[in-house]
Amino acid sequence: MQSPPDVGAQARAYVPTAGSLAGRVVAVTGAGDGIGRAVALAAAAQGAELVLIGRTVRRLEAVHAEIAALGLAEASIAPLDLERALAPEYETLAAALLARYGRLDGLVHNAAVLGPLAPLEHYPMADWHRVLHVNATAAFALTQVLLPALRAAADASVIFTTSSVGRHARPFWGAYAVSKFAVEALSQLLAAELGGHSQIRVNALNPGATRTRMRRQAYPAEAPESLPEPAAIVSPYLWLLGPAGRGVSGQSLDCQAPVG
Ligand code: NDP
Repeated sequence: MQSPPDVGAQARAYVPTAGSLAGRVVAVTGAGDGIGRAVALAAAAQGAELVLIGRTVRRLEAVHAEIAALGLAEASIAPLDLERALAPEYETLAAALLARYGRLDGLVHNAAVLGPLAPLEHYPMADWHRVLHVNATAAFALTQVLLPALRAAADASVIFTTSSVGRHARPFWGAYAVSKFAVEALSQLLAAELGGHSQIRVNALNPGATRTRMRRQAYPAEAPESLPEPAAIVSPYLWLLGPAGRGVSGQSLDCQAPVG
């Protein structure tokens, strides 16, 4: 097993050869916008068949249309509101996915909400529940229900999306920080539980500061041009999803090289 710094640098430097994800079925949550959209488009461009999971159907349809317009493998749309979905909706999605594809080769847990930035003393309880539910509990629920499909793949990869505040908490990041610590734990737990007797690898990936709606919400005064576009940071996702990342599990990696 390589040491984590080597693995992170390798993932960031990755330039896929054409068709690196051909024949793989990859599901992305929050695929309609921001980083999820960029990962879905990049994976489709590498030959993957995409399952676009998300809340706002018109955004998923736009990504579906972009993939179709490029002449890439047809994607499918799986509407799922991670804030409100209950067990039957997860089970319906998993059954439909298995019926259509027979397996799942990649699962990217990307969808998340920021919630308010506020001191714990004043942090609203309703937001606390919502942020922890969407960012952490829903990722657990979706993973659990999709494990049979992941087990049916020859070389499956699960990616949880973390954040720098999921490793070192900063004041006022409240439930978002706690949810990302939970995501790191989910990733470690699943990697350890599956390690050694499964073909499923599990890792966490921190996109780093990226030009999206969520980043604007967190830093409204920041100049957007100072940040990379989502499409510029997707190499490590492709690396982890494809054959290049085989054997790498239980890591927490960064899409952008740590500063300093
Ligand atoms: P965006 O806000 O641009 O996109 C978030 C996505 O999550 C949207 O597609 C959104 O769907 C979806 N989503 C939100 N709530 C739900 C829900 N209830 N059910 C289903 N889908 C939902 O965020 P980013 O692209 O910036 O973030 C992507 C990931 O990267 C997140 O996990 C975030 O925490 C992480 N991250 C981002 C950083 C950044 O600088 N951008 C830095 C570090 C981590 P809808 O279109 O319906 O709103």
